[in-house]
Amino acid sequence: MSTATSSATITPINSASSPPTPKVIIIGAGLSGLAIAHGLRRHDIPFTICEKESTPRDRNWGVTISWAVPFLAKCLPPELFARLQECQPDIRLNNAAEGKESLLIRDGATGQPLIEPSFPGTRRLQIKRTRRIWGEALLEHGGEGVRYGKVLVGIDTPDEGEYKGKVVGRFEDGSCEVGDVLIGTDGGSSFALWLDEKINPSVDVGCHPKKMYSGILILDKPDLERPETWVFYVLSTWPKEEGVTYGKDDDLLEEYRRRMDGWGDPYRKVADWIPEGTKVRPILGGLKVFAPKERWNNRDGRVTIGGDAAHSMTFHRGQGGNNALRDAERFVGAMVEVKEGLRSLKDAVDAYDQDVFERGLNEVDMSSKQTHAFHDYKAFLQSPLMKHGIKPTANLGSS
Ligand SMILES: Cc1cc2nc3c(=O)[nH]c(=O)nc-3n(C[C@H](O)[C@H](O)[C@H](O)COP(=O)(O)OP(=O)(O)OC[C@H]3O[C@@H](n4cnc5c(N)ncnc54)[C@H](O)[C@@H]3O)c2cc1C
Repeated sequence: MSTATSSATITPINSASSPPTPKVIIIGAGLSGLAIAHGLRRHDIPFTICEKESTPRDRNWGVTISWAVPFLAKCLPPELFARLQECQPDIRLNNAAEGKESLLIRDGATGQPLIEPSFPGTRRLQIKRTRRIWGEALLEHGGEGVRYGKVLVGIDTPDEGEYKGKVVGRFEDGSCEVGDVLIGTDGGSSFALWLDEKINPSVDVGCHPKKMYSGILILDKPDLERPETWVFYVLSTWPKEEGVTYGKDDDLLEEYRRRMDGWGDPYRKVADWIPEGTKVRPILGGLKVFAPKERWNNRDGRVTIGGDAAHSMTFHRGQGGNNALRDAERFVGAMVEVKEGLRSLKDAVDAYDQDVFERGLNEVDMSSKQTHAFHDYKAFLQSPLMKHGIKPTANLGSS
């Protein structure tokens, strides 16, 4: 185990609170990192949140949040939670009032509805907008907000010296952050996760030879009154084929259209209507799927992970964001227990890790099964979505 480099600028997190209030370093300002930051702030637990991007990425998508909404409510301050509608692709949509708390899954060949699973409170969040709104809200009331342009490159847990018993996050720009616990919510390509050699690398999901998944989703409605300004996106997956790889500059529009042959409407029409010149991007390297085989080494409760960093699942069941928010709520709860002297940092992080690990294994597996099922029409009727809809598959308990 190495110690922090002496040349680095050390910035301890300032806090007037007396021990044992843990000082938290959050890596990554995605859904889980931002939810954790807000949750900690609600409980006056000091934190620093560091994000590698200095400007927003152009990558954008939407997530359906269903059973995790109550957990999100425990993390976000009430006034920010009340603004969730502003984070939606369609900011006018009131899902509950309009009876739209559901997904629609059709038979791709005929266009007929197959199932419309629903869950109370379900709503859709646009990732880029959500990150902006939740990030800006951290600045309110004199808060420090997200530190952008901070790329985590190393984690030290020194057992001697000035920072004995602490965790030190090292950043590409030479600076360091010192805290009691570091949580890596740095997404599916998690550096924190990669650091731990026990953890599996990402793998491609298997696929059925001829079947395919495709969806049409709303991304934005810049002018609510002018549908011609509305932005939709299409997501399609098909089994990986021997010898076929895609590069980041490949344009798959023609291939996508060809593969949509035999689909019913609305999918087929959408494929035909996509304007020439629209860039259809490949998912480089295939879908990321991983869950650690064993619980990670949390170095006496000083380093842990959450969100996609701990369980990266395919999007076919739409559960990654829900689980990321559940992790956020659990982590904040663990820190509150430490602050209140109910548990040691190690015990609290151990309990958090166990929940994230077990739930993650199950959820990643279920999502992979769903991906296979979308690629295997015959298996679809037995798939997790058909059996469970968008309800949680585990007993979530009350804490
Ligand atoms: C197309 C698509 C559709 C989806 N649909 C759904 C859905 O319907 N429902 C659902 O629940 N989930 C869905 N998901 C999954 C959901 O989006 C993710 O599970 C969730 O956003 C994960 O959030 P996160 O904060 O863990 O990770 P991320 O959002 O990936 O955030 C990680 C952050 O960490 C930063 N970072 C990375 N490395 C470093 C570093 N070294 N140092 C500092 N910062 C770093 C990144 O820049 C990023 O900002 C979908 C995903 C996709 C791609």
